[in-house]
Amino acid sequence: MPAGRDLPTIAISAPDADPRPGLSGVRSDALVAWAESLHVPPYRARQIADFHWGRHAGAAAEMHTLPASVRAALERDFQVDTLADTVVRPADGGLTEKALHRLGDGRLVESVLMRYPSRGRRRERTTVCISSQAGCAVGCPFCATGELGFGRDLSVAEIVDQVRFWARRVTEEGRRITNVVFMGMGEPLLNADAVVEAAYALTDPLRFGLGARHVTLSTSGVVPGIERLTALRPAWTLAVSLHAARGGLRDVLVPLNRRYPVTDVVDAASAYADATGRRVSYEYVMIDGINDTPADADAVSALLRGRLAHVNLIPMNPVAHTAWRPSTPARVATFADVLRLSGVPVTVRRNRGEEIGAACGQLAAEQAGEPASEAVRRRRDRLEREGAASLSRRP
Ligand code: SAH
Ligand code: SF4
Repeated sequence: MPAGRDLPTIAISAPDADPRPGLSGVRSDALVAWAESLHVPPYRARQIADFHWGRHAGAAAEMHTLPASVRAALERDFQVDTLADTVVRPADGGLTEKALHRLGDGRLVESVLMRYPSRGRRRERTTVCISSQAGCAVGCPFCATGELGFGRDLSVAEIVDQVRFWARRVTEEGRRITNVVFMGMGEPLLNADAVVEAAYALTDPLRFGLGARHVTLSTSGVVPGIERLTALRPAWTLAVSLHAARGGLRDVLVPLNRRYPVTDVVDAASAYADATGRRVSYEYVMIDGINDTPADADAVSALLRGRLAHVNLIPMNPVAHTAWRPSTPARVATFADVLRLSGVPVTVRRNRGEEIGAACGQLAAEQAGEPASEAVRRRRDRLEREGAASLSRRP
């Protein structure tokens, strides 16, 4: 960006090797103001937005109806695409694809595309699962991202550009993105400024234009972040990663529970549900012999009964370096029955493609490497030590 010129962009940025702000983080009025500052007519800003948001352009060079001078100014002042490089791998017979994106500073994050064929009255869906941070500080022991530790927050543009990447790719097959879930790497509500702004960009009719209900934010339970969402009252779907209803066990499975206890998390999520009229999804990763006992099922029922809630039971994907295994289908079914009988709506996710979170953890696992790197080993040893201590105190 040239010195001395006041570039009207929103005030969110991440440490990035490239000083130019990402275009996907620039609001429509700010883009018009940028054009005006260069004496470029406002309709050119609209043309840029059409290319960027409507055709998912990856570079100014693709915006062929713009004068060369405007294209050059755009490249000079913004990163049209903040993803430096991407590798795509198929999974699940081609219905699912996973991408590993390299950011401007070399960090790697992942996103996943899931194609769901139409079923009965349910329309065809194309869902993208995106990352909000490189790594994650929460450190859930069953999660491959948690093993990596925290890298950095992603910027608004880095978050949104993952969706634009897939939008560009599926356009060729006559599809469009219908749903976005923040269930990739990172804890969205520990990067709430960028995540909220990215969700607005994705649901703004003048920008990416998704229906608000089709954006899901998943959190491990950052209470102030949930309260902030409640105050904003968007129609986004909220998912809470529960994994245990009993405090001692949840301290181990979701270490953030020590800061924000599960009852406070569920109260905050219920306030969101009441304010928005939207049911909260509770994600529950089923780990054999750890959180799938009848007593755990009773505790979940007691916690959620009578609330605007829906539980998703997901057999753990064994991607992290722990000895834990997924619960058997029989144990999952018994657990589900307990919830159902107590009136808590529940769905068992069996299909690999449906296991959004599980699908999302794997590339991170590959990054962590096999055998476990020294840092991962130390982290795992600590988690297992602390875990054993807390588990021995279980009621
Ligand atoms: N940090 C946020 C969002 C990203 S994780 C959160 O925890 O909610 C998205 C989902 O994937 C979470 O529900 C998480 O618990 C789940 N997940 C992580 N590792 C998993 C694994 N090994 N198997 C199944 N689900 C997993
Ligand atoms: Fe972070 Fe979510 Fe993984 Fe926990 S499950 S370590 S909160 S990404």
